[in-house]
Amino acid sequence: MGTEYPNSPAIPSRPASPFSVPQSSTPFKSSGPVVGPEASAFRHAPPSSSQITPPSSSYGSMVGTEASAFRTIPSGMPNGAARPPPTSGFPNMPPAAGPYQHFPAPQFSSIAQVPPPRTSLAGQPVLWPPVRPVSGSFSTSPVSLNPTQPPPVQMGSPPQSGSMVQPDPVAPRSPIDSQFSAARATMQLSSPTAGSVYPVARPSFQSSFPGYISQQTTAGAQAQPRQSLAFHPKPGGYVPPMPAASSPYFAQQGGYAAPPSVASQLGHPREQIRHPGSTHPMAVMQGLVEDFSSFSIGSVPGSFDSGLDSKVLPRPLEGDLERNTLSEMFPLNCSSRYLRLTTSGIPNSQSLASRWHLPLGAVVCPLAEAPNGEEVPVVNFAQTGIIRCKRCRTYVNPYVTFTDGGRKWRCNSCALLNDVPGEYFAHLDASGRRIDLDQRPELTKGSVEFIAPTDYMVRPPMPPLYFFLIDVSAVRSGMLEVVAQTIKSCLDNLLGFSRTQIGFITYDSTLHFYNMKSSLNQPQMMVMSDLDDVFIPLPDDLVVNLSESRTVVDAFLDSFPSMFQENTNVESAFGPALRAAFMVMSQLGGKLLIFQHSLPSLGVGRLRLRGDDIRVYGTDKEHILRIPEDPFYKQMAADFTKNQVAVNVYGFSDKYTDLATLGTLAKYTGGQVYYYPSFQAAVHKDKLCHELARDITRETAWESVMRIRCGKGVRFTTYHGNFMLRSTDLIALPAVDCDKAYAMQLSLEETLLTSQTVYFQVALLYTSSSGERRIRVHTAAAPVVADLGEMYRMADTGAIISLFTRLAIEKTLTSKLEEARKSVQLRIVKALREYRNLHAVQHRLGGRMIYPESLKCLPLYGLAICKSIALRGGYANAQPDERCAAGYTMMALPVKKMLKLLYPQLIRIDEYLLKKTSLAEDSKDKGIWKGLPLAAGSLDPQGLYLYDDGFRFVLWFGSMLSPDRVKNLLGENFAADYSKVSLRELDNEISRNLMGLLNKYRESDSSYYQLSYLVRQGEKPREGYFLLTNLIEDPVGGANGYLDWIMQLHRQVQQNA
Ligand SMILES: [Zn+2]
Repeated sequence: MGTEYPNSPAIPSRPASPFSVPQSSTPFKSSGPVVGPEASAFRHAPPSSSQITPPSSSYGSMVGTEASAFRTIPSGMPNGAARPPPTSGFPNMPPAAGPYQHFPAPQFSSIAQVPPPRTSLAGQPVLWPPVRPVSGSFSTSPVSLNPTQPPPVQMGSPPQSGSMVQPDPVAPRSPIDSQFSAARATMQLSSPTAGSVYPVARPSFQSSFPGYISQQTTAGAQAQPRQSLAFHPKPGGYVPPMPAASSPYFAQQGGYAAPPSVASQLGHPREQIRHPGSTHPMAVMQGLVEDFSSFSIGSVPGSFDSGLDSKVLPRPLEGDLERNTLSEMFPLNCSSRYLRLTTSGIPNSQSLASRWHLPLGAVVCPLAEAPNGEEVPVVNFAQTGIIRCKRCRTYVNPYVTFTDGGRKWRCNSCALLNDVPGEYFAHLDASGRRIDLDQRPELTKGSVEFIAPTDYMVRPPMPPLYFFLIDVSAVRSGMLEVVAQTIKSCLDNLLGFSRTQIGFITYDSTLHFYNMKSSLNQPQMMVMSDLDDVFIPLPDDLVVNLSESRTVVDAFLDSFPSMFQENTNVESAFGPALRAAFMVMSQLGGKLLIFQHSLPSLGVGRLRLRGDDIRVYGTDKEHILRIPEDPFYKQMAADFTKNQVAVNVYGFSDKYTDLATLGTLAKYTGGQVYYYPSFQAAVHKDKLCHELARDITRETAWESVMRIRCGKGVRFTTYHGNFMLRSTDLIALPAVDCDKAYAMQLSLEETLLTSQTVYFQVALLYTSSSGERRIRVHTAAAPVVADLGEMYRMADTGAIISLFTRLAIEKTLTSKLEEARKSVQLRIVKALREYRNLHAVQHRLGGRMIYPESLKCLPLYGLAICKSIALRGGYANAQPDERCAAGYTMMALPVKKMLKLLYPQLIRIDEYLLKKTSLAEDSKDKGIWKGLPLAAGSLDPQGLYLYDDGFRFVLWFGSMLSPDRVKNLLGENFAADYSKVSLRELDNEISRNLMGLLNKYRESDSSYYQLSYLVRQGEKPREGYFLLTNLIEDPVGGANGYLDWIMQLHRQVQQNA
């Protein structure tokens, strides 16, 4: 990407208006030969020989009226090396052998490798600002369960090694100052002379993301071109991160030398570094809170032999109850919607960390949707440059402190004293606060967005580009119509306004290119049948500016579904089409949306039926079905990432399409997999419409990279999610949006941490849809703790489960499903055993099962992970494509979405539907929203229930539900086969209430669309498929129910306890 934009001074400065265009409306036209109006010469391209396949032979409908939509349906490309004869159509071209000039493909091999800059970084002892004590809000106490007599449960001996990754604490580290550092050369090193008056540069604020209001008041927004050390995502700077063959989810390790530790100034008086509003929390956190609120399962007083009562087991019936202890301790932290730690108590030693058997790390959702009024403020430092620590590259944040009369600032992360640039100077008041603090969001907010100067660019910000690659081979499902209509309806809402670029390729056994040049009235179609030598016939007109070519694009979307309506060609040349899309997009980058209907069958990247081999399950080769078969796809994914292309894969087939392999494209490009098995427009249209529309209209950060920094002594070692790593810790994300989250694991570098606080900083450098380069920075502090009880007390089940699920899914790519499930179980057992050792003797809890209150739902979520589609059962329990799609999807889910998928909400709604009160009032009534245990015992035959996992609704009609009510909801269809009934609003209150309720649920999280599936009690097999197998508390299909699971865990905890 951007090879023609080296760090040359010719880079235009950022436009004054974010919506203005740096150079021209299509600033990055590829440099191929100019093809003027002469392109129309395609019309007359004669078939070169008998090798040419007339398109009309493939597409019946093209003979009819629709064919006129494409005036030029030139001949197919030659099959052999010989090109079609020259025509007069390309006056500017060198004489070529055919009508299609074979332009040199864009270079996608890397140019010179530019190693990340290295500097010697002196580590300094860190000074820690005091933090405010927290009043006794840590009520976390151990809770115990007392199984009277846990039945012996046989389970194979647990795997010896906790194979779910124990990061090597002494693994080498990467240079702190790698690509994602910037503008070191620009730091103002000179200290201002005392007494002089410094002009204060006022940042201009904007509301940010989404929306990008263009109000940018600072005049001097033009940063002069500088010697840039920043971010070189240009091809040269890219370290090819090809995943290890054995593990497609490449856990990155090492490559990094620890910075030398330099002891230096420790002598700062505390007053100088005290930050307003922060004091020390640890004083009150010593030791354990003694109030045990244990309860027993079993031995109900007055009865014996009653056994366990599953009713008393803990459940997350109110969803994700986030604990806010950290934000109480550190009110300046970013919101937990952006960053959640698995425990806010960072262990102070490696020995302590090793006793924390759960994942230690973070889940980051850098662009999470913020409620109105809580948008991230935008700061423009203009000529001052972005203020960062000279040594560790931390961005200025609320935890830095000012000293020396305001002329110096101390980095909260590495304690280095930095000079305050003259333009940024402000006097301090008597308490050491900057007098302009209330006008400085970067010093008061945990999340802020900086306008990046040109130092952070290697080319002008790219315009949003959408490219659609559509399988048109014998599609009868109505998919093409839905896709075309949806795209057309979104054209006005695509990101980028007048800068948006768009293009299309369709394919079956041949590739079809579409010239969308704005001077045309109708698109011109070009068919290429030579799959071995794919090239781009018209480099400049296959991707066009949407607003300029709007008419042509509209005409294309109106006509292409009917063109292929009667297509009987069943072959799919997906690999060659993918290559072609890459060639078209590689200059700009952007979003590639793939609509794949069948197994790729022709050309490079052809795949075979391999997922249905039942004999492989349960063997050591089972996992191979879940990883890509052909290295072509991984290589393509790497090339796409390098060229800033994010790939989203939409799968539709009723047959095996090897999503394990196709999903690789999304996995390594920061993309997403959408799966609509057995797609039928009549059934699935709404879901596809909504999700595709959201995909192409949700605010997106383009050509981005993300890094999460943390203080000295700790570091992130492994990363988990859909992305590719560039260098050891720089996450390459060609496109990011609010629906994507990433997880990472933390380890200690030093035997003992001396600091009291660890700071985390997430920085996402990206190009906004409006064409600005920006850096979104989230900062959070967390206390260092010295005992395990504190770690448990500050544990966050949601973050643990999110990280845990990702690790378990990765495990299924190298091991049998059963082993992945066992590893989940083993870690939970180890954690509970450790906790038990901490408390059991002291509190004489004997045979009771005890666990920390903060993790009371951990065992249940662990069970849910094992029963999720990605991990459940074996061959018979999930189709291979379904399983893989679930895995890819879950790897990207934000915490709340993940928890809801694992433990969906089940509510009874029949009584509610009879109420006449308005929905608005009812939403305040928490009762209706509280879920029921996910067990068949929750279902009353007289009731109507809604099951919602965030991806679909299941409406369960009890067999004794009043026929009148059923009739009100389903109309005359009420007695019909429910698989054929679709829910729609009828003219009665109950029906309206139901539809209102469903819409309310959909609106509460619109990242996916829930279709409604209706099932009647006792209806087989639908009731089982849609609902009963998902009631995870029940023993289904040989797997444990909740109660058995608890008993089994307890048994294992007691072994060797
Ligand atoms: Zn620093």
